[in-house]
Amino acid sequence: MSPRIAFGGFLHETNTFAPSKAGLDAFVQGGGWPALARGEEIFAAVHNVNVGASGFVETARGLGWEMVPTLWCAASPSAHVTAEAFEGLLGELVERIAAALPLDGVYLDLHGAMVAEGFPDGEGETLRRVREAIGPDVPLVASLDLHGNVTQLMVDSADALVAYRTYPHVDMALTGSRATTYLAKLIGTAKRDAKAFRQIPYLIPIAWQATAMEPCRTIYGELAALEHESVPTLSFLPGFPAADFADCGPTVVAYGATQADADRAADAITARVMASEAAFNGQVFQPDEGVREAMALASGATRPIVIADTQDNPGAGGDSDTMGMARALVRNGAVRAAIGLIVDPEVAALAHKAGVGATINAALGAKSGIPGDVPLEAEFIVEQLSDGRFVAPGPFFGGSRMNLGPCAALRIGGVRIVVASRKAQMADQAMYRQVGIEPTEQAILVNKSSVHFRADFEPIAQAILVCAAPGPMPVDPSVLPWKHLRPGLRTAPLGPVFG
Ligand SMILES: [Zn+2]
Repeated sequence: MSPRIAFGGFLHETNTFAPSKAGLDAFVQGGGWPALARGEEIFAAVHNVNVGASGFVETARGLGWEMVPTLWCAASPSAHVTAEAFEGLLGELVERIAAALPLDGVYLDLHGAMVAEGFPDGEGETLRRVREAIGPDVPLVASLDLHGNVTQLMVDSADALVAYRTYPHVDMALTGSRATTYLAKLIGTAKRDAKAFRQIPYLIPIAWQATAMEPCRTIYGELAALEHESVPTLSFLPGFPAADFADCGPTVVAYGATQADADRAADAITARVMASEAAFNGQVFQPDEGVREAMALASGATRPIVIADTQDNPGAGGDSDTMGMARALVRNGAVRAAIGLIVDPEVAALAHKAGVGATINAALGAKSGIPGDVPLEAEFIVEQLSDGRFVAPGPFFGGSRMNLGPCAALRIGGVRIVVASRKAQMADQAMYRQVGIEPTEQAILVNKSSVHFRADFEPIAQAILVCAAPGPMPVDPSVLPWKHLRPGLRTAPLGPVFG
């Protein structure tokens, strides 16, 4: 008889300092991720999408498993998951898994940096409740985002945690597949690998976690080389440095045939990360300085200069509506420049009402109320409108069907602004094209993203700059008003010590 395996997903990356919480509706919509799906709907929802569950489905099908789909949902990064959403969605996930018993295994597609109201360790509580429902003997394996802040409770509750190895995360589906291959090893046997878990004592800014850059490139190279028969899976997670709870921070999780095997692998990667502390660093421009640098570079360039508006990255909890970079483009007279997304449903509606070719007076953006930010009040020409529905084919979204709600391309001088009604990270060229802006023809592109945009934009970019305009995800995490970290943690590489 083929193994009977339940699977599901519940993903959120929580920036506890961000302006808006994630309620039930955020998961129902998905916000750049597939919308909430139940039971058989999950197969269609994750088909050909770069998420862990799609890798699970493909691999499980190849292994001939009987799959029991339960509940899969994700929401855009933001502040806390509300108690209502957490209890409602986790409650249903656990109920569906319990109803599917008897099972030969469970796979979960999780993030690892969820902070819910009442449960700062969202995935710890998720894995604890699933373990409680299935009992101690049913194998339970979860894939995690590279930004997961792993906790002891997560390690104790799951038989294995398997994390992405790329940022931009082009290996989300592949990681689901790797987790599934590991799960296959546990089915029908009581034998489990030994676990080793290490917490690194400093936070790593996300802008310097890119895995094609040093020091991550070398760390992940070593990590892959350490995996072999007696260390079947090994993960390093740089973590998400904006989740204010005791276990925030980078971690290493290793599994070994013996405790010594697991410890040896975990200690080797930990030592490498400790030796790399000073290397998690890079150049950051202020908005005007960055725009002027981009204009200077663009004058001799054949391809766009791409600026990361890193601090308002909706992939890290921003509302994608701060206006610091748009204002700097306009103020410095940039031409053939485009910025996106600016999420402002009111202005998008105004543009749709006025029609293509109309001029509108609007106070654009800054509705999330980030300190130091105000709307851009000006006249804009409505150049193009769309319903915001399109496929994002680039390597990060990997074919996701987007629904950004009513969208518009607004122009002010030589600057075009992609206005959307719903937030998603600017990590795919299609997000410009859907409102008639050809990204490859621009001199300057400003993307509200920290690193994920690199997957689809690096190939078309002449140069990439990182700018620090207002937003809830500071490029230097040590400036955040931390309250709940563990004493002794450095809040940046070689930075101040908490507590
Ligand atoms: Zn991530």
